[in-house]
Amino acid sequence: MGKFNGKVVLITGGARGMGATHAKAFVNEGAKVAITDILVQEGEKLSAELGEQVKFYKHDVTNSSEWETVVTDIEQTFGPINVLVNNAGISLMKPILQMTEEEYRRVIDINQVSVFLGMKSVLPSMQKTKESSIINVSSLAGFRGNNHGSVAYSAAKFAIRGMTKAVALEMALEDIRVNSIHPGLIKTPMTVQKGKEEIIDHLSKKIPMQRAAEPEEVTKLVLFLASSDASFITGQEYILDGGQLASL
Ligand code: NAD
Repeated sequence: MGKFNGKVVLITGGARGMGATHAKAFVNEGAKVAITDILVQEGEKLSAELGEQVKFYKHDVTNSSEWETVVTDIEQTFGPINVLVNNAGISLMKPILQMTEEEYRRVIDINQVSVFLGMKSVLPSMQKTKESSIINVSSLAGFRGNNHGSVAYSAAKFAIRGMTKAVALEMALEDIRVNSIHPGLIKTPMTVQKGKEEIIDHLSKKIPMQRAAEPEEVTKLVLFLASSDASFITGQEYILDGGQLASL
């Protein structure tokens, strides 16, 4: 019997990278999983691979009416939602003097406003069930700036920490837990680009553990926070960074 038998899980940005790894693990533990993303080909392929327990939705996380449509359909297909992983995000790094207002707002919209829309859209569904969990994906950049041009990315990822705590308190009496996770350098299409593998090697040297993590290492934490093993944990921040923040 899987740890998530009968549970309904929604993962945004789940067509590839960490979101796809989380989806596979939830399926292996018996969950019904809704994967949403703007990458239709990748999302449909993954969904077909994972079988009937999975449904892919073309979904832009910045669009509130698409959130409404997706949540309604998930409820009709699988039932009320137990777990939301607000995972979709982009990394647009530019020094402030080069970043346009439009680019800044785009990063905030995709990485921050989406988390607000996600929680707001899914909470009424969670209120129909017992023991729900929201995992908001922030970053190490939610604790510090970096010199690669993180003005917008850090702003959004810092904000997720505050939003997480505020909503955790609002939902504490309803058995809906809300936590944030803060990965450091993880090997995904966001960080490993074909022909540019030396970038991740270079960045790894600055990490006390001298390596980037595999997405599966993050997945283990996501499943823990989603499960009843974390039944008394809410409003917290979980950092997976190979020791980077320890030296601050
Ligand atoms: P990724 O690029 O492989 O995955 C991100 C997914 O989000 C993609 O499938 C993309 O299509 C989707 N997405 C982007 N804009 C969207 C939109 N408007 N609507 C719906 N989906 C959208 O990268 P990843 O590394 O797997 O990133 C997952 C999350 O982890 C992101 O929030 C990212 O900021 C965060 N993160 C990544 C790292 C890392 O080192 N890879 C570190 C810290 C935090």
